[in-house]
Amino acid sequence: MSLLDDLRGRDCPVCGASQAGSAPFLSASVDPARIGSFSFASRKRPEFMSFRLVRCLTCQTVYAAEAPSAETLADAYAAADYDTSEEADLAAQTYARALAPFLDAGIRDGAALEIGAGTGSFLRELQRLGFRHVTGVEPSSAAVAAAADLRDRIRVGVFDPADHAPESLSFIGCFMTLEHVRDPLALTRAAFSLLRPGGVLAFVTHDHRAPINRLLGRRSPIIDIEHMQLFCHASLHKLLARTGFSEVAITAIRNAYPLRYWLRLLPLPGAMKTAAIAGADATGLGRLRVGLNVGNLLTVARKPVAPTP
Ligand SMILES: [Zn+2]
Repeated sequence: MSLLDDLRGRDCPVCGASQAGSAPFLSASVDPARIGSFSFASRKRPEFMSFRLVRCLTCQTVYAAEAPSAETLADAYAAADYDTSEEADLAAQTYARALAPFLDAGIRDGAALEIGAGTGSFLRELQRLGFRHVTGVEPSSAAVAAAADLRDRIRVGVFDPADHAPESLSFIGCFMTLEHVRDPLALTRAAFSLLRPGGVLAFVTHDHRAPINRLLGRRSPIIDIEHMQLFCHASLHKLLARTGFSEVAITAIRNAYPLRYWLRLLPLPGAMKTAAIAGADATGLGRLRVGLNVGNLLTVARKPVAPTP
């Protein structure tokens, strides 16, 4: 079934408010001919396609007013290609650096799970941080096949809470993935039940309220057919408060990537972009590491030790 044959209307995926209580955010822009295997891969060249997006007036989540079913999305991701792992490695290093202060020895002694593990870059960072028990789940078999020594730590498929015992994990990470799932509230609730008391949940998401994204509008890389919803501080706080997490910290993070990667994200015509990247590569500047705040948020939340009243 095509992604577009299976669209279903929905209400706010974070707070549950009716779609009637939303404001238009962006009209649909979908070209069926351009939906290929790379439409559902991370860190690809942006295509600026999106489903019809609305903004929830209760919690500020921006979401696809009509979205494919969870099953259709799972099929799309299962067939998805993946991008070069150098960028995934750099992103994973950024996340690990930002998260390290939240991960005390007790957390590192426990078991960690990454939802949307890709080629295993972040699982490797967790091992460097001292975690001995790391597992991941990733729908793209092509990505998992490229995970080298970590391949047997990553289950191919979509996240299924039934794979883990309740309160068996000390850390769950989900990076640039929460936008992609049909039901982020269900994922967050499941994470809560799988974490032991005191356990840590971490998200990295885009921020649709970030100046760069508001400036670029439809030409922002966050406008993407694979994003079922887009978050901001308010919607993330709502999501975590609804699921019982405490000690929620949400901060902007700077991503350090080679210049050629940033050039690839620029809203330029294809030929101009290719020329810019070729020029940067020819001069050696393409490999220059540049740290930028491009509107990504790191959310760290803790499961309360005492039961919430
Ligand atoms: Zn809402």
